[in-house]
Amino acid sequence: MRHFDYQNGEMFAEDVPLSRIAGEVGTPVYVYSTATFTRHYRVFADSFLDTKALIAYSVKANSNIAVLATLAAQGAGADVVSGGELKRALTAGIPANKIVFSGVGKTRAEMGDALMADIRVFNVESLAELRALNEVALELGKNAPVAFRVNPDVTAGGHAKISTGKKENKFGIAWSRAEEAYAEAASLPGIQIVGVDVHIGSQISDLAPFEAAIIKVSGLIKRLRAAGHTISSFDIGGGLGIPYGNNTAVPPPPSEYAALVKRLTADLDVEMIFEPGRMIAGNSGVLLSEVLYVKRGEDRDFLIIDAAMNDLLRPALYDAYHDIEPVMQPDLDKIETYDVVGPICESGDTFTKGREMPKLESGDLIVLHSAGAYGAAQASQYNTRPLVPEVLVNGDEYAVIRSRPSVEDILKAESMPDWLTKHENVTDI
Ligand SMILES: *Cc1c(COP(=O)(O)O)cnc(C)c1O
Repeated sequence: MRHFDYQNGEMFAEDVPLSRIAGEVGTPVYVYSTATFTRHYRVFADSFLDTKALIAYSVKANSNIAVLATLAAQGAGADVVSGGELKRALTAGIPANKIVFSGVGKTRAEMGDALMADIRVFNVESLAELRALNEVALELGKNAPVAFRVNPDVTAGGHAKISTGKKENKFGIAWSRAEEAYAEAASLPGIQIVGVDVHIGSQISDLAPFEAAIIKVSGLIKRLRAAGHTISSFDIGGGLGIPYGNNTAVPPPPSEYAALVKRLTADLDVEMIFEPGRMIAGNSGVLLSEVLYVKRGEDRDFLIIDAAMNDLLRPALYDAYHDIEPVMQPDLDKIETYDVVGPICESGDTFTKGREMPKLESGDLIVLHSAGAYGAAQASQYNTRPLVPEVLVNGDEYAVIRSRPSVEDILKAESMPDWLTKHENVTDI
């Protein structure tokens, strides 16, 4: 069931017409569906009801605190990659014992905050990080629960920039060094080994890489236990892909993923930890935008819209595909071919090239689908375009969950040094 679909000739988010949100909040704006977030979380979580499992939603996919609270109400934990995300997760009511902390470059300050909050586990990615964590834990009189993120050297992920589990990627402990890392961890008084962690990539559209990684890590878990380590959790990361439409690869449903994981880990006697991000958030949101101009080029037509790469970076960063539809149900007899572009002064500010779409005109509203993950979370204010706002729909009501700053708000964060304010041509701020 699609919660972004046409009713009476125009597109709704659940029971709210998108034209109403555009009129009241303005465009560009991200619009999320509570029902979709909840359904995706439930589909994933319900496939593991018969398993000891923690579902730690990957906060970086969509980190708005209202989104986190929506998932927390369903029982979600959180996978955080910074002190800022830790604060978000705690603010949204996610219990500390359901929070895992990932990332290759945790600072000592972030480690301290996470230790004081008593999070579930640190996914440690290097011996240098391990030693720093040990020191911080000892200073604070704490014991840091640790899993090493190991790099199983498997190929996965829909794009070179979202593959993370190959030996040339910066992530994880090199496979051949994993056992010596555990040996060192066991010798440190501020560290308590609790598990093993992997995360092999994102937008993974078939089960083979997961299978390869699980088989490798299962073997490692057995060797670690034989060496005397206590391994009680196996974090298999996130990465399950989503359908983006058109002829992009269609990933397996969570039920098939769950069946594979359960089959391969049944005799391991571990708690499984999952870190899904995109699978939960991706199709829970759209980017709503207005057509500014249609421009006839030499050999093509450009649809210039009011959203840009600073609002949705994925096409520029990963060559990502997003389905684009008009908000008013179109007349499918009138099809045109467009390059859809934003107003930013970069050729990379292009959402798609040569796309066949219903004919559109200046002032028409459109949506870019599948924009709920790695959309708003990656937005910037490049070109002094105020950070794109976010709206959460719930049935027939909606709320602005991040407001659009004014240009004055942006300028307030900047200041003139003394030597410039003395200059007569500078306006006194
Ligand atoms: C980004 C990330 C995830 C989430 O990946 P998805 O593809 O969105 O599921 C999970 N774990 C780690 C460590 C990550 O960096």
